Amino acid sequence: MKNYAVALDGPAGSGKSTIAKRVARKKQLLYIDTGAMYRAVAQFCIQNGIDTQKEAAVVEALPHIQIDVIAKEDGQRILLNGEDVTEKVRSQAAGKGASDVAVMLDVRETLTKMQRELAKGNSVIMDGRDIGTNVLPDAQVKIYLDAKVEVRAERRCKELRELGQEADFETVKLQIEQRDAADKNRKYNPLRKAEDAIEIDSSYMTMEEVENMVCSIIEKKIQEKRG
Ligand code: C5P
Repeated sequence: MKNYAVALDGPAGSGKSTIAKRVARKKQLLYIDTGAMYRAVAQFCIQNGIDTQKEAAVVEALPHIQIDVIAKEDGQRILLNGEDVTEKVRSQAAGKGASDVAVMLDVRETLTKMQRELAKGNSVIMDGRDIGTNVLPDAQVKIYLDAKVEVRAERRCKELRELGQEADFETVKLQIEQRDAADKNRKYNPLRKAEDAIEIDSSYMTMEEVENMVCSIIEKKIQEKRG
């Protein structure tokens, strides 16, 4: 087998991006963060005064949104109409907006198409919500990474503080619960574990332990497929 794909799905704050980056480095995979693409659509709306809950307005804006994903040694950079918005899209507002636009079929179809193109011709690890179920249903390795909501809220607070943003635990926890509900209950490609995905609960694991577990799952799966 030449190229292979690792689909890494799970709720907000489960540690997907940290793990995906570390595993990508170790296994020489191209890392694609699909959440950043939904966030970039939301960022465009924020910058242009478009309400992220108004489907008609968001869909009308779509042809004016050019997203470029650039793989770098230390992770992915995301360009919105040529502007590097990698850091900007990490804001709470862009996260909330991303979850709003993620319910819209046109947005999902446009981004899914781009994501499949990005995966072509490379060995990839792609993180998101619907990678194993929708974007790359034939991925050789599928992992569903989860953790208790309190642990995820604490991790997200830490990430926000490191970016110099305000983070109140109770507020962040509530936002995560709302985002989980929106992601799990939406009509198109909701967040759920693919039948053939291996679930990891990272609540009481260090990131290093999760990384090692993911790497050994990849090695085992790829060996099985190679027969
Ligand atoms: O992973 P991240 O928090 O950056 O994702 C932001 C939002 O984008 C998620 O809450 C979800 O609503 C949406 N998303 C999605 N499908 C993906 C990746 C992200 O619906 N594959």
